[in-house]
Amino acid sequence: MDLSAFRRRPSPPPSMATDPRSTALLKAQPRGGRAVNVSRILATALIILPVLVLLSIFFRDNRPSDRASLFADAGVLEKKDAQNAEVSASGSAQNTSLSDSDDVSSKSAGRGAGQPRDELLGGLLASGFDEGSCLSRYQSSSYRRPSPHKPSSYLISRLRNYESLHKRCGPHSEPYKKALEDLKSDRAVGSTECKYVVWISFSGLGNRILTLSSSFLYALLTNRVLLIDQGKDMVDLFCEPFPEASWLLPKDFPIANQFNSFGQSSPNCHGNLLKNNMIYHPEKPLPAYLYLHLVHDYNDHDKLFFCDEDQRAIEKVPWLIIKSDNYFIPSLFLMPSFERELFNLFPEKETIFHHLGRYLFHPSNHVWGLIARYFNSYLARADERVGIQVRTFDSGDGPFPYVMDQIIACTQKEKLLPEVNVRGTVSAPSGSSKLKAVLVTSLNLGYAENLKSMYWMHPTVTGEMVGIYQPSHEGHQQTEKPLHNRKAWAEMYLLSLSDVLVTSSWSTFGYVAQGLGGLKPWILVKPENRTTPNPPCGRAMSMEPCFHAPPFYDCKAKRGIDTGAVVPHVRHCEDISWGLKVVEGHQEL
Ligand code: GDP
Repeated sequence: MDLSAFRRRPSPPPSMATDPRSTALLKAQPRGGRAVNVSRILATALIILPVLVLLSIFFRDNRPSDRASLFADAGVLEKKDAQNAEVSASGSAQNTSLSDSDDVSSKSAGRGAGQPRDELLGGLLASGFDEGSCLSRYQSSSYRRPSPHKPSSYLISRLRNYESLHKRCGPHSEPYKKALEDLKSDRAVGSTECKYVVWISFSGLGNRILTLSSSFLYALLTNRVLLIDQGKDMVDLFCEPFPEASWLLPKDFPIANQFNSFGQSSPNCHGNLLKNNMIYHPEKPLPAYLYLHLVHDYNDHDKLFFCDEDQRAIEKVPWLIIKSDNYFIPSLFLMPSFERELFNLFPEKETIFHHLGRYLFHPSNHVWGLIARYFNSYLARADERVGIQVRTFDSGDGPFPYVMDQIIACTQKEKLLPEVNVRGTVSAPSGSSKLKAVLVTSLNLGYAENLKSMYWMHPTVTGEMVGIYQPSHEGHQQTEKPLHNRKAWAEMYLLSLSDVLVTSSWSTFGYVAQGLGGLKPWILVKPENRTTPNPPCGRAMSMEPCFHAPPFYDCKAKRGIDTGAVVPHVRHCEDISWGLKVVEGHQEL
């Protein structure tokens, strides 16, 4: 089908009678020919006008509905994505770029139609990247509604400064080579030009995305450069986030082969050194690197990382190697040395991961292909998209009937999905013809299948149509497999494109989706004793992820406290009573 007519609709003809430009033209005619010219113009206008009117009626009546145009452009996008994904697979994506005619307008995904596309997300993203090497960076704004949460100008300027620092100190730069010398000598000489945070790839993908964001924010707060250990599990998931310098730790990094064995009793573990009085000793030099064990099983010494006093010594060490499976940002908010800066960076406090996630995590072309094809095939034409993320932590094989009941109870009680008329056969003719597309993500196929069957067997009481879609059902977590991780990342991202979201308690997979999407989800309460909880779900207070294992320690008073009751903007989480999360809160400094 030729779509050019729909893309380039003729602009309405200016009225000859009233358009000031036409009067000006008439006035400029030489005197003698004026009468003749005027009558010629009028005669021409009389012929042309009816034709233009007919044409405009034709185009108005044949203009595709929003839905149809979504579909049409979607096909174009899908084809392009497939091509670009292929190209990137063959390693030559750097050379591909979309021409103007390839560009996918915002109507392709039905988001922000009629509004200019804000590809750089209000200045959050730097310009100047090669578009073809990371299509998602430029196309995602066609798939999302514009975020009502704008990044602060201070955050934007700090990110641009960070990018310069990263370029100056990044892998293979002179300062990097110098800092490696320190590492080899195993001493912090104190004059290193650039300091680093090295992030170790660890745990499930949702956890990794959250710990990377936390490590990046920590690097930003402490003027360090973030480098990531790709491990085996991070390949071809994300684009490079910083311009002109890689964030990947070079493969020949001297101690990379020890990362897997790093633990609480490692010689350079910060907690271990503290426990044995081997650090902050006037006669003992600081080491060239510290291993920071911020995993959920960390001990009281490891937790002293969250005390300002300890930060003053950590500050001097050129290399910090972080292993974590936690979103530890809420506890940074409780540290006086960072609090003011965090307030300035994020005046809207609950937007931390929303902005950092959109800044850092751009799906690679392969993953973008999965996202775009799925979205355009199944979700784009819906009037409303509902995401349901089902993650169960009970032993045994699902689907569990008590979880199925919980999903139905939650979505119907909160009016996210319509009830069905079990005695009806067809929808009432006067019913709404709204189409709801429900994206279910789960390791198990059963939940989506049950929902699908329910909405096939019975009409909805509202007359709405409900389509149920599940991209994959991987059975169990297989973090070591690249395609498994790509699917997981694609599904988190697809969930984030929902209009409303239901997530599962305790799941970082769901946190990533809610934060990227800027959504406050309905959280399915964690079932106890294999029974459906009542109420089945509750609305999240904020879109921020939960820190599952925060310290409960007052660094100044040197005693335990409830860290969820210190400031109004750090509270206990809805799904984990001992966890901490950042909420809007209203206290200013
Ligand atoms: P969490 O364990 O729920 O906090 O989430 P993580 O993402 O950290 O770890 C769970 C891992 O299991 C994911 O990264 C995937 O590898 C896999 N997984 C869990 N749920 C799903 C799902 O709905 N879809 C897919 N494709 N994978 C899932």
